[in-house]
Amino acid sequence: MKVLRFPDPRLRVKARELKIIDKETRKIFGQMKELMYEEDGIGLAATQVGIDLRFFVFDLSKEERKPQVVINPIIISKSDEKIVFGEGCLSIPGLRVPVERSKKIFVKWIDEKGNEIQKELSELESVLFQHEIDHLEGKLIIDKLPEEERKRIIKEIIEL
Ligand SMILES: [Zn+2]
Repeated sequence: MKVLRFPDPRLRVKARELKIIDKETRKIFGQMKELMYEEDGIGLAATQVGIDLRFFVFDLSKEERKPQVVINPIIISKSDEKIVFGEGCLSIPGLRVPVERSKKIFVKWIDEKGNEIQKELSELESVLFQHEIDHLEGKLIIDKLPEEERKRIIKEIIEL
């Protein structure tokens, strides 16, 4: 398992609902958590490792590791109030893009144990969820840039 880098076309795949959590999926959850730490990331979506299922792993805890798995997330509502955060992405190393998103979102998802969670998220947690859910839709932070800048950066990345 490895993190796909832009412009890998698999990053543009719209992921399907994850219907069954079994031994095999739990093994993938574990591998993705490890990979996220190896890569020094705070979130990793299934799409980023070439799996077209709707889930991601994340860890926003500071000292000890507390990774969580978010399955089939659905944003129920978004605040009109926005937040701009300089976002990076493991699939586009070295790039940081200011992205405007809703400051608060109300989300429901299934956790690793199969429980349904409903929660209002704010600040960095809200930004992270929106970033990872974008991945499951095949969207990347680079899409948020103005056209000229996007073209220039894509050209630079491809030349590298
Ligand atoms: Zn990303």
